[in-house]
Parts: sequence; structure tokens; C-alpha cells
Amino acid sequence: MPVRMDSLQAFARHKLAGLEALSLRRTPVETARREGLWVERGGRRLLSFSCNDYLGLTHHPAVMDAAIRAIQDHGAGAGAARLVTGDHPPLEALETALAALKGTDAACVFGSGFLAAIGTIPAVVGAGDVVLLDALAHASLHAGAKLSGAEVLTFRHNDAADLASQLKTQRFTARRALVVTEGVFSMDGDVAPLDAISAVCVAQDAWLMVDDAHAVGVIGDGRGSSAAYPGAKVDLQMGTLSKALASYGGYVCAGADVVALLKTRARSSVFSTALPPASTAAALAAIEVILAEPRRVASVLAKARAFTAAAGLPQAESAIVPILLGSAKAALAAQAALEEQGLLAMAIRPPTVPKGTARLRLAFSSVHPDAEIERLAAAVKQL
Ligand SMILES: *Cc1c(COP(=O)(O)O)cnc(C)c1O
Repeated sequence: MPVRMDSLQAFARHKLAGLEALSLRRTPVETARREGLWVERGGRRLLSFSCNDYLGLTHHPAVMDAAIRAIQDHGAGAGAARLVTGDHPPLEALETALAALKGTDAACVFGSGFLAAIGTIPAVVGAGDVVLLDALAHASLHAGAKLSGAEVLTFRHNDAADLASQLKTQRFTARRALVVTEGVFSMDGDVAPLDAISAVCVAQDAWLMVDDAHAVGVIGDGRGSSAAYPGAKVDLQMGTLSKALASYGGYVCAGADVVALLKTRARSSVFSTALPPASTAAALAAIEVILAEPRRVASVLAKARAFTAAAGLPQAESAIVPILLGSAKAALAAQAALEEQGLLAMAIRPPTVPKGTARLRLAFSSVHPDAEIERLAAAVKQL
């Protein structure tokens, strides 16, 4: 019925015009990766500081070869959900390697980090329970919490005292409590104080879930936030295979029974096709590089700190350094100014970050040339 379809088009145009007026409309731009972090965009060669390939492993020969060999041995796709078709052999090897990397009994791989978050939280809490999220927690964690049917509350960013006071009240009524935070925050680059947060969880009988998407490969000798805080008790270590691990997919590392429960109950695993063999094998090869090359891992933080020192900013805690600009318009202007100088640093605007905190989000990698980092620092100082 053409009239009805037209009205949906009109609705979309209206929404887009509203976003455009606020400088909040976003569109993907074709950007071809040529070599390492050098990209081609709109006919220009740029060096990207917006890629989460923290260790440069997406183009590492061993990682690419592992993916190619997995396709040759096991095919391009997994065929069905893992409970239906069975696991292709690299999947089990990857789960064993992830559990060893994170120091847990077991691991469960998902189709993406987003799917890991929205599958895991509803598998362990529901109506009558409470989820307490850090105020800056990733959208996937908010989505998982909402989907669970539990009451969802937020605590002040990285504030263990606020968490403690809220949990104290909640523990009178909530059957179970799950606290959710990130090891390294995706848009701010700061590290969660897991020692203090874990102590609150233990004292208040709450479970702790940490999303390590930006911590693995970068902090804790590449093993992530639990290795950086060995005293912390983290029940669910979630993460992605798509950042430092250079592939695609997600995971949760936990005790063996927890993982067995996820494999039979997490709906985003049970009702979604398993990770393809190539993605699985690439992530496994990336873990092997992380374990074999501690200097590559250490260089990520060193590069980020070289930048913050040169730019006169507070010392970086991770690979991520935000340059806060406030309005979406100012962030877009800063992005354009850097692009003029051959540097790609994407503006991050609401709803990815809170209103009034639009920024450039710089992501450093072990493969960024030192001279280019100096050049970026000089350019950022001019903004
Ligand atoms: C990227 C990201 C995710 C989602 O991971 P994908 O594998 O890309 O779906 C989850 N949490 C955080 C903090 C992230 O930055």
C-alpha cells in the first residue's frame, strides 16, 4: 500500500531533519584500510586514530593466515547455532585460550560483544532482582539489563561509595544483585577501580560483571582488568573479539557452571548462528601473539602516554584519550580540522556520550609511528 509506505518515509525524513539540525545525524563513510592504520577516505590518505585495532593485529600475517586456513578447513560459515550444528574445532580451542588468558575455568563465545551482553545479563538475573550499572556503561550493557526484566539503576561513574550506598538499600528487597561496569571505559579511557568495586560487591552479596572490551590487549599485560586488579573477584568477565583481538565476536569468561548455564540459556547464543571459523581462528591467533609479544602489548600504553605528554594532557590510563569539546558542532569542526592535516579522529556525539560532552575520541595502537603521534599532539594543541 503505497500511501502507508510513504508515510514511513516521511517519518524517517522528519527524524533525520531533526538530527541534522542538532548536528547529530551520523552516516557511515566508505573508508578503505590500505596498510595498518593508513586509510583512504574521499580520495585522501589519512592516518586513523579512531580504530580499536590496538595491537595492529587485523593485518598481522599470522592472524590473517589463521583465518584463511580456517575457511579452507572448515568453510566460510558455521551453518547454524552451536547447539544445533555442533562446534567447529577452532571454537573449543578459542574458548580454552580465552579462559586461560583471563584466568577462569571456562569461556563462552558469542556472535559479538553486544550479543554477549544481551545474552548474559538476562541469563543470570530477572524480575525481582536488581542490576546496578556504572553511569557510563556501554549501550549493550544497558540493553542487556533492560532485557532481563530486573530493576535497573545506575551508580555514579567509578564511585564505589555511591555503589555501596545504593546496594545497601537494594539488598533489603532485591533477591539477587548484579553490578556491571567496564574495565576500561570506551569513551573516556579511564580504568574502573575494581579493587574497591569488588570489595563492595563481596560485602553486599552482589555479583560483579566487567566488560573488558577495551582492556584486553592493553592493560594487565594484555590479559585485561582482572589481571590489573588481581585481588578483585569478578564473576563474569565479558569482552569482544573485535578490538585488540582483531577479529569479530564476543565472549564471557567465568566459572565452569556459569559458562555451562550460558551455553544452554543465553538466548543470543541459543537462537543465533555460531561464530564463523575464520573469525574464531583469527581471534585465537591474536591471543597467541599477545602472549608471545609482551613488548607489543606494552607499547600501546607507551604510545598513548607519549601523546598525552606531548599534548600537555593528564597521563593516559589506556589506549583511549578523549579530547572533550562540548557541543556536537565543535567536535565536528575539530574532526574536520584534523582531517585537513591527514589525521582521522572521529567526533563522538550523543547518544554515544552524554549531552554536552561531545569529543574527539583518540585510540592509540602499537603500530602508530611516533612522529605521527607528535604531529597529532601539535594539531590537537591548536584546536
Ligand atoms: C565495542 C563494545 C562492545 C560491543 O562489542 P562488539 O563485539 O563490537 O559487539 C561492548 N562493550 C563495550 C564497552 C564496547 O566498547
